[in-house]
Amino acid sequence: MADKKIGVYICTGCEIGENVNMEKVTEYIDEECSPAVMKQVPFLCGKEGLAQIQNDIDGEGVNRVCVAACSPRVMWDVFDFGPDVVVDRANIRELAVWSFHDPGLPEPEEDEMSDPLTMMVRDYIKMSVAKLDRKTKPEAEPIELDKTIMVLGGGLTGLTAALDTAETGYDVVLVEKEDKLGGFAAKMYKQTPTKHPYEKAEAPSINELISRVEANDKIKVMTKTSLQLIKGAPGKFKATVKQGDEEQVLSIGSVILATGWKPYDASKLDSLGYGKIKNVVTNVELEQLAKNGKLNRPSDGQPVLSAAFIQCAGQRDAEHLSYCSSVCCMGSLKQAGYIRELNDEAKAYIFYKDMRTPGVYENYYRAAQDDPGIFLTKSEIQEVTEGENGKVLVKVTDNLLGEDFEVEVDLLVLATGMVPTIADEPVLKLGYRLGEQIPDLDLFDGFAD
Ligand SMILES: Cc1cc2nc3c(=O)[nH]c(=O)nc-3n(C[C@H](O)[C@H](O)[C@H](O)COP(=O)(O)OP(=O)(O)OC[C@H]3O[C@@H](n4cnc5c(N)ncnc54)[C@H](O)[C@@H]3O)c2cc1C
Ligand code: SF4
Ligand code: SF4
Repeated sequence: MADKKIGVYICTGCEIGENVNMEKVTEYIDEECSPAVMKQVPFLCGKEGLAQIQNDIDGEGVNRVCVAACSPRVMWDVFDFGPDVVVDRANIRELAVWSFHDPGLPEPEEDEMSDPLTMMVRDYIKMSVAKLDRKTKPEAEPIELDKTIMVLGGGLTGLTAALDTAETGYDVVLVEKEDKLGGFAAKMYKQTPTKHPYEKAEAPSINELISRVEANDKIKVMTKTSLQLIKGAPGKFKATVKQGDEEQVLSIGSVILATGWKPYDASKLDSLGYGKIKNVVTNVELEQLAKNGKLNRPSDGQPVLSAAFIQCAGQRDAEHLSYCSSVCCMGSLKQAGYIRELNDEAKAYIFYKDMRTPGVYENYYRAAQDDPGIFLTKSEIQEVTEGENGKVLVKVTDNLLGEDFEVEVDLLVLATGMVPTIADEPVLKLGYRLGEQIPDLDLFDGFAD
């Protein structure tokens, strides 16, 4: 590699410039590190910022670039200047400015380097320059990658992923912690329509999918198996799994994470009667009752002749789950059908904030609207109370008609949402990097570190 020529580029965008004494930082770096080039650039990742770096590479012969800006987890593709230019990222945005800027502190000092944030930024840049100065270009060594792929979780997603992977020619190990495959789909009484005209629920097709997986000789199924540890590196992982008392180490190249979801904890929804009123159940519990052929009132086993469904029971609510779970509107349309199946006279009321049935599923929604025993309305729930003889009283404001009304039903179903399994368990158990889990940008509201 040609002689080292280091360029330091300090971004002043993303709140960096206004919180750091840049003059002091550049003075210090100049004195301590003497880079060939040093520039402050507003929005370094923009067209003009990148052009400044490229011009110095082409014109000044800069071949080692310190990008003092945001986390290396973001914009990594933007700050790639080809194989002959070594780039190091001094993460002064997430690790310094965003973490330590305290709006309550006084402005950075003018004449001395006493402001802690400025000192921190200065040190991150100094460390990055030191790294660039000592780095040598690694020589690539061809390594044999493991071609077996581990699918973690044997629900609908894992089964589909395992089959698709096997069909592309790879060997698959499907690891499922329970004794059976299928996940929640195997616990469903019926499934929402998958075929034209998308108007009627169908018998679940999950068993057929399980049979295809079990018959595929490229897929090794391991049930009642738990993942203990993943070590190694991408392409060369060693995954320790435990089946009964026996541990074994699998050589795998990559992992498909398909560990699914858990229902939202309905005990947090006591304002909707859950845990206080016997005949209030969740959508997941109702599915189980229907699957077991016992779709009766939990309080006394009497037949359910009327049921109300409260949509977004916790979802799209800042106090519970901020997001839409995307399946519970379809789920309630299907379950209203279960109630109607029991008795021709049975009635189902669906109270929604919005009905979310995209694409062809609009047909399923229309079919429910055409059913004289299903009543759907956009509404706000005012109160849920216990009535006489085990009845549940649901008071709502109908947002379409602008009227308040009350229904008395045998069963109230809360259409609760889904929480990803990985939200509260270190599922991947990674032993080769800091942290057991892959960083999930969404879990941290876009904060990459
Ligand atoms: C009330 C209700 C009704 C629904 N009805 C329908 C419907 O009719 N049609 C439809 O298409 N969708 C429906 N859905 C949505 C559907 O259930 C999900 O989309 C589906 O379950 C997702 O499958 P999955 O494989 O991602 O997750 P899951 O079904 O949760 O499967 C995950 C699997 O991973 C396993 N696992 C978890 N952690 C680990 C671990 N650490 N190691 C190994 N294994 C692990 C679990 O045991 C499970 O077998 C409904 C959802 C609800 C709430
Ligand atoms: S994203 Fe990074 S490079 Fe772009 S302006 Fe923000 S800190 Fe600078
Ligand atoms: S009930 Fe409907 S709108 Fe509400 S979270 Fe579920 S799918 Fe989304």
